[in-house]
Amino acid sequence: MSFGTGFDLFEVQSIPEKGKGLVARSNIAKVLIEKPLFTLDPEADLVESSVVSKVKALSKDKQRQFLALHNNFPGKNVFSGVFRTNALPCGPESVVGAVYPTICLINHCCDPNSHNNWNNKTSSETIHAVRDMKAGEEIMIPYAKQEASFTRRALLKSSFGFDCSCSLCSLPVSELKKSEARRLRIEELDQAIGEPSRLVNAPTKALADCQEMARVIEEEFPNGSASPLEASLYYDAFQISITHGDEARASAFAERAYRARVICEGEDSPETENMERLMNKPTIHRNYGISKRWRMTKNMVSKGLDGKEFDE
Ligand SMILES: [Zn+2]
Repeated sequence: MSFGTGFDLFEVQSIPEKGKGLVARSNIAKVLIEKPLFTLDPEADLVESSVVSKVKALSKDKQRQFLALHNNFPGKNVFSGVFRTNALPCGPESVVGAVYPTICLINHCCDPNSHNNWNNKTSSETIHAVRDMKAGEEIMIPYAKQEASFTRRALLKSSFGFDCSCSLCSLPVSELKKSEARRLRIEELDQAIGEPSRLVNAPTKALADCQEMARVIEEEFPNGSASPLEASLYYDAFQISITHGDEARASAFAERAYRARVICEGEDSPETENMERLMNKPTIHRNYGISKRWRMTKNMVSKGLDGKEFDE
């Protein structure tokens, strides 16, 4: 596996029924880092004239790159149509969208081999392979959250105008139903774990939910491509532990969250760096000291405990 930063690692190819796409040239980890052509707050400003003025401010080359992107909204408002089709949010909480000359060519898969992330520190979008990729394999990201297939497929249809026929959606119905049940269970557990009153009053139950969620994730993503989900799961487990004063488990969970973040966002993402700080000093978290139920200092559990032993 190599750690390149960009353009020698893939090539743009025509993909049957999908227009263009990106295809890996070799087995890769980090695929691409790219700065936006421009950003726009679509809630405040998605009218044709505002997109036109953004595009006019670009160099001729970049204008051509923008207009070469796909447009799902045929009609006279071509510029805003291209923006609506291709814009990626600048971070999970952000309403601001950005368009990119190359990243916007990457197609969707419901069981993707790559993860896209906005890095606030470098003001760029990164694409990381979340599992080993072979030369010739198409680079794919998820356009929608990894939800159960019914909601996911409806959203893909309404927002992006296609009926998904990815490797997951093409499974036989019996297999698809099992995947559906697992993804629904992951959503249920995620909501239960995020419930603030349970975090404080029923931490043992919340941690048991984390353990079940880790198991279901492993079943649903057997090839290990679930690092974005794992990063958030282990951060939740960290928060439960540190809220009740268990520094040892908190640090071990933070380490797992950190390793998952490295895979999907890289070492230099602000979220990865934050997890590293919490791993080294869990007591800096704002929840530390709320409860002393599980008071245990960091060195009370031997470091490096892993796998089954640690889970127990
Ligand atoms: Zn699909």
